[in-house]
Amino acid sequence: MNKEDLHVFGLVEFRPDEGAIFFQNRRLVLLSTSTFGRWNRYLTQKVGEEEARRALLRAGYHEGFHQSVCANRRFGQHAGYIVAPRLAELLGFSLVEVRSVCEDPSRFKVDANFYNSIEAEQHVFLAGLSTTPVCSYQMGFSSGYSSAERGMEIYFKEVRCAACGDNYCSTIGRDAASWGEELARMRQDYGFESFADVEAFWAERRDRAAALIKQREKMFSHSGSQETGADLAIRARTKKAIEEGHFVVREPAMMDILDQAVCVARLNSPVLVQGETGTGKEFLVNLIHQQSARRDQELVSVNCAALTESLLESELFGHTKGAFTGAVSDKPGLFELAADGTLFLDEIGEMPMGLQAKLLRAIENGEIRRVGSNKIIKVSPRFLAATNRDLQALITAGKFRQDLYFRLNSFVIQLPPLRERRDSIPPLAQQFLQEVTSAFEKKVASVSPKAMACLMTYPWPGNVRELKHAIEHAVVVASGNSIEVCDLPLQIRSCSHCEEEQLPLKHGERQVIAQMLAVHGGDRTATAQALNISMSTLWRKMKRHGLMP
Ligand SMILES: [Zn+2]
Repeated sequence: MNKEDLHVFGLVEFRPDEGAIFFQNRRLVLLSTSTFGRWNRYLTQKVGEEEARRALLRAGYHEGFHQSVCANRRFGQHAGYIVAPRLAELLGFSLVEVRSVCEDPSRFKVDANFYNSIEAEQHVFLAGLSTTPVCSYQMGFSSGYSSAERGMEIYFKEVRCAACGDNYCSTIGRDAASWGEELARMRQDYGFESFADVEAFWAERRDRAAALIKQREKMFSHSGSQETGADLAIRARTKKAIEEGHFVVREPAMMDILDQAVCVARLNSPVLVQGETGTGKEFLVNLIHQQSARRDQELVSVNCAALTESLLESELFGHTKGAFTGAVSDKPGLFELAADGTLFLDEIGEMPMGLQAKLLRAIENGEIRRVGSNKIIKVSPRFLAATNRDLQALITAGKFRQDLYFRLNSFVIQLPPLRERRDSIPPLAQQFLQEVTSAFEKKVASVSPKAMACLMTYPWPGNVRELKHAIEHAVVVASGNSIEVCDLPLQIRSCSHCEEEQLPLKHGERQVIAQMLAVHGGDRTATAQALNISMSTLWRKMKRHGLMP
């Protein structure tokens, strides 16, 4: 494991819809460092420097111990020297440099420098230079962390501190025996009379940490995983949404795409969904709305390809009475209906240029005017847009505004076509089969292996929607208990891919066929047998590769 693996976004989990942030199973708050500094000042003034120092040591020890138990579970044992400094950095206390480590496993001897310590900085800022080291929270954290990590009584001591005028803080960590006469005083700082007290504290904290981990893992119905809490939470949400939406996904890449959608749902930024027709854009848009903070507000959809320019304009922006022939009363547009909800602009690539300019203004200023009115109405929907067109190409062709494109594409989700996620075809076919047979009250239990082979190889230009229609067609036509090849729509069963794609040929196909023909002296029957394909397929392939005499 290296430093990059410990990226902050993997460890910190933001859940704004619950008003919570988690860090290694523990809830976190973002407080300014000056709040931290002022608490310390107040504490020091109230109880004196000695007691304030102890309070910080103990708080740090608690936290460090917990973080160590969690990190151990996540990163494996003895990742400590790499993980602990990174955690201190992630939490923003200081930049840690481990200077030396004793190799003897029965001892603990670590020297480390802390640069840019927030405790030192705040002390100097609020109370000026100090005569003694002040970074007590970090000493406590290091002591607790190392003790849990090594299962050994360990204490850190600051020997040089930036609050005393040094450039940085220097610390030494030692096992109990190494501290000699100082040990009793160190234990006292943490409220320990003897090693028995230390052990009792450890046992209690380990139980507590284990319970927390268990509780969190149960929440995400996942266990023993090395994945981060954030990943687990998002994946759990994605799975639930897929289940509820009866969406079928078998490919990890597709799951990742849906995870992205769940992540971006919580932001307020526009999302552009790209994908061929029938790839599930509507499902994705619903998913984003349902996972967003606006889920209780309206999700308003409009298909930009389905209306003329003037109708689309009045649909989007509304109109006043008498604005045009047929406008018999004032009517609010979809922008107003979506007000604090989500506005989904389907087939955005088909929107006329004139309307694109108005849409851009509405998005940028959050203001619209109804057709026939000068009154400005404030609106703030979240924008989701979808298209099966190549918007870049439309921009080049002068049919789509680049500035609108930049507004909409702050986050783009590309849905793959069904032919790129064929693993989902069998479960999808089975799901549709169940849906259709129960609707038609017809008993067709399965798809025959040969028919399934056809479904697996057909290129599916209409994607999931086309597959659903194909199953519907087959159920209507089927006379037996299962769907056979002859029950499938003509374009699917007659698709040349169906036969050809099952062959162990593809790369260098032409060469293989030519060689086999040569080996068999041009005997096509023998060649077809050798290649394990039918005569008609061989003939078609020969024709396609220009191998016909
Ligand atoms: Zn310091």
